[in-house]
Amino acid sequence: MELMVSTKNSPDWRDDSPAQEITDLKGMGEEEIIEFCLEAGEPAYRGRQIFSWIYAKGETDLDRMSDLPRAFREELARRARVGWLEPEKVEKGADGTEKFLWRLGDGNLVESVRVPMPLPDGKTRWSLCISTQVGCAMGCAFCLTAKMGFVRQLSAGEIVEQFLAARRLLPEGERYHNVVFMGMGEPLDNLEASVAAVRLLTHPKGVGMSPRRLTLSTVGIAPKLLEFVREVPGVGVAVSLHAADDVTRGKIVPPNRKWPLNEILTTCRNLPLSERQRITFEYVLLSGVNDSPEDARKLAGLLRGIRCKVNLLPWNPFPDVSFERPADSRVGEFRRILTQSGLDAFVRQSKGLDIRAACGQLADDDKIADRAGRRS
Ligand code: SF4
Repeated sequence: MELMVSTKNSPDWRDDSPAQEITDLKGMGEEEIIEFCLEAGEPAYRGRQIFSWIYAKGETDLDRMSDLPRAFREELARRARVGWLEPEKVEKGADGTEKFLWRLGDGNLVESVRVPMPLPDGKTRWSLCISTQVGCAMGCAFCLTAKMGFVRQLSAGEIVEQFLAARRLLPEGERYHNVVFMGMGEPLDNLEASVAAVRLLTHPKGVGMSPRRLTLSTVGIAPKLLEFVREVPGVGVAVSLHAADDVTRGKIVPPNRKWPLNEILTTCRNLPLSERQRITFEYVLLSGVNDSPEDARKLAGLLRGIRCKVNLLPWNPFPDVSFERPADSRVGEFRRILTQSGLDAFVRQSKGLDIRAACGQLADDDKIADRAGRRS
């Protein structure tokens, strides 16, 4: 029997034909699952129970949702499923960083990265970086994901599924302290799904993460940044600047032609952030491109008056690209100029370099090869 899987529509509960659509409950919000149950003639609280089973307890087997009546579970098993990701491949780097490669229902691949942070008391703080698109349309010159081009948007379910599946792979009793939307793709180019994913991750009866433990990283799609902060207040925002003038930025971050620095920074100044929130500015340092003392002084000038911190990321190399990683002394000097100007600036040591899990290194090699082949 061929099953048709839908992520949106509820089934027709009166239809007993074998070709009945199977509804994937993963990715649905609480209200949608409630509606799904109401259509089945079940009370609304059944929907809340299912929501909690999926997101709080991570259950994927409808039959194990033990507080649902058996008859309803049997009916559910015929009409619905909870889609699940299994890692196609897990790579572990020398520093403990792990990269999960997930195969989606349509065969596309995306990656998530888990980063352990050892604490002085011997415990570990875990962070997870998740993807929001297959590939990316932004075309940043220093980023391997950009070489795949844009393939497709991830649904909210597929974004959250990365978290749920990676949560299953944590050691017993551990949890993710932070989740960053910083993997493959530009999250604001997939705004609706990114907002829905944040809502699923922060729902108190679901995953229940505090919004301040989530961070969305963007190349700076100014109008959508404002919309995102209005929709899901409290979530951290990281804006990738990577240059301190429009000419340089336009060469390495093509969206700058549409949303130049002035527009991005004006938006940042006017974001309705809470008192304790500050924006993170990301700056990939490329030798001879954007790493001069003059660049640092310009950057300090641009950020004056914005409550922020700056993360400096010496570029993570990959083959066939002509950029170079700056010398440590150059990076140190850049940071010194920023801190002397009163900015909090940090040099972020890349994690997972040996397994190509660091920032800007996530990509499906087959897609890159396909694209290169089409061009030649
Ligand atoms: S750096 Fe981010 S926005 Fe730019 S191409 Fe890579 S994934 Fe896309």
